[in-house]
Amino acid sequence: MALCLTQVFNKDRTFRPRKRFEPGTQRFELYKKAQASLKSGLDLKTVVQLPPGENINDWIAVHVVDFFNRINLIYGTMSEFCTKRSCPIMSGGLRYEYRWQDEHKYKKPTKVSAPLYMNLLMDWIETLINNEDIFPTRTGIPFPKNFQDVSTKILTRLFRVFVHVYIHHFDGIISVGAEAHVNTCYKHFYYFITEFSLVDHRELEPLREMTERICP
Ligand SMILES: [Zn+2]
Repeated sequence: MALCLTQVFNKDRTFRPRKRFEPGTQRFELYKKAQASLKSGLDLKTVVQLPPGENINDWIAVHVVDFFNRINLIYGTMSEFCTKRSCPIMSGGLRYEYRWQDEHKYKKPTKVSAPLYMNLLMDWIETLINNEDIFPTRTGIPFPKNFQDVSTKILTRLFRVFVHVYIHHFDGIISVGAEAHVNTCYKHFYYFITEFSLVDHRELEPLREMTERICP
């Protein structure tokens, strides 16, 4: 499975290197802790809970970065199926359409193709998580006041990647043998955002039926 993802990815020139946590930092230790509990066989609902004594913002920061890496990789495996022609609009079926807005070129919400939306999204997240003023990595540097708002926005937009991929590219997921992998990542993500009420429930609507099925 992991091999399969890597193989598909090597062909993809838009591959981005993963954001890593610096060894020796507190964030790295917390990341290792989260990874260890993931592998321990605990259910995902329990795994997402804040460990006693840990800071909520540190916990959120670790997860935002980890989900960014994993969802970025999942979309990378789908990118051969998701083109300007197949997906001229970033959507989740016929009922949901997402427009892109940022502080640069797209000051008003703008209709863009799904691959362009994904590219803008991943660039936007990468810039944020590498900004020391928003995601401080050094011990003792406080998180900014808007840290949870920024994280909420990142997670809300990352959820849309699942919406698009599940609704428009489920055949692609099956054809690369990634269904179990994507489902596990989705469940982990879903339990995390709901544990801390980080994403508005209206955003979750497009995948509600599936979520009820796979996230009891
Ligand atoms: Zn697509």
